Amino acid sequence: MRRFLIIGNGAAGLAAAEAIRGDAGRAGGDDITIVSDEPHPAYSRCLIPGVVAGELGFEALSLRPPGFYGSLGFKTLFGRRVTGIDSARHRVILENGTGLEYDALLLATGARPAPAGVPGSESPGVFSLRTYEDATRIAAAAEEASSAVVVGGGLVGLKAAVALRKRGLKVTVVVKSPWILSKQLDRWGAVLVQEALAALGIGFIFGQNPAEFAQKRGRLMGVRLEDGARLAAGLVIVGKGVVPEVRLAREAGINVAAGVLVDRHLRTSAPGVYAAGDCCEVSDLVTGERSPSALWTLAVEQGRLAGLNMAGRAAPYEGGLTRLNTVEFGGIPVASAGLVTARGNGFQELSRSARGAYRKIILKDGRLVGAVLVGDISRAGVYAALIRRRAVVEGLEPELLSARMGANHFPGALAALAGGPAVPQALEKMES
Ligand SMILES: Cc1cc2nc3c(=O)[nH]c(=O)nc-3n(C[C@H](O)[C@H](O)[C@H](O)COP(=O)(O)OP(=O)(O)OC[C@H]3O[C@@H](n4cnc5c(N)ncnc54)[C@H](O)[C@@H]3O)c2cc1C
Repeated sequence: MRRFLIIGNGAAGLAAAEAIRGDAGRAGGDDITIVSDEPHPAYSRCLIPGVVAGELGFEALSLRPPGFYGSLGFKTLFGRRVTGIDSARHRVILENGTGLEYDALLLATGARPAPAGVPGSESPGVFSLRTYEDATRIAAAAEEASSAVVVGGGLVGLKAAVALRKRGLKVTVVVKSPWILSKQLDRWGAVLVQEALAALGIGFIFGQNPAEFAQKRGRLMGVRLEDGARLAAGLVIVGKGVVPEVRLAREAGINVAAGVLVDRHLRTSAPGVYAAGDCCEVSDLVTGERSPSALWTLAVEQGRLAGLNMAGRAAPYEGGLTRLNTVEFGGIPVASAGLVTARGNGFQELSRSARGAYRKIILKDGRLVGAVLVGDISRAGVYAALIRRRAVVEGLEPELLSARMGANHFPGALAALAGGPAVPQALEKMES
């Protein structure tokens, strides 16, 4: 009987446990243990803004039905923290000093919110949004506050802003970049989303970072910006991106850059130790550059492949689209994949906007390398598949811009999608 140990019960850890168990179900015989310092069964992080808004309870976030872990024979140690890895002895140490031995170990430790790094960051009333507990604390604080500042115009910041606005707070989003969602959208797409959010009553300040979270007698008063402007706020949410959680790996002597470094089989530099999800650094399929993973879809894919590799079923990971998303803001659906702006010479950008919808494609050497869709995201999964498969799209630009393309245009690249859903399964799972 082999002993598999997984640290982290998020998207990556869960996908790995299921892949290790495979088709054998409970009869598989292997010992699979999942340790997580969060006390809950797995839940969707992407949906926790719904808890902030007061719209969702924990059950609505749950990724698997009650009794799931037992039904697959998984041992769970929830609410328990791993404090060290002795990779030479194939052993991890828990906070209470207990040792757990493994034949194969997965680091699926995720990421933590990047700190604002300014005075007052520890003030009561200043939050980040990463866990269910964060969401419940913010929801409680929102009961007492009438105005909020959200620092950061990325996915998490904007989802938080919408949630607080739904609770009736006055919300201002402070963004350093020239436009919101700068990783997901170009300037024109971002303007459409910003207008929709402004219509909900959300205010924006661009080109600024906070300089201080001001407090008086232990109470948050507001935010002072770099240019000296002051915003009153009883609540602040910092959404300045995430930092891969690599402490355990680094202290165990495992090779780490911005995230844990893995090879094509998601193996780290320590024998028998694998890594997947937000804690990792991966190669982007379009640019070839290494960057932290930081996406739900990638965490699921890497977790599944890591699990297969741990179980001895060689499954190479070819890298992922580190920019891939579908999301909705203020009733406007948004999807993007690959590059969102051209990167110098040799790229071709084509766009079309009509009736509040915006669609842009980016090509290089006759292949699709990026797509931005706002307002109408039909066929989003097809664009992502074409980018992933490096399909030649030359001559089909009009079809791509009008979303009239189908499997018949790309018989090889789209075979798997023919007749299937417009958005691949992993994208759908993120929100369900
Ligand atoms: C509000 C919000 C909205 C998001 N929206 C989107 C979106 O629209 N699209 C998208 O693609 N992604 C989105 N994401 C990001 C997405 O949720 C993550 O990419 C994904 O959850 C990563 O999964 P993971 O399994 O790698 O890590 P995690 O889900 O972070 O899980 C890691 C787990 O490991 C545990 N852990 C860490 N260290 C230890 C230790 N030492 N001992 C025990 N346990 C430990 C952690 O507590 C955690 O439970 C969003 C995230 C948030 C917070």
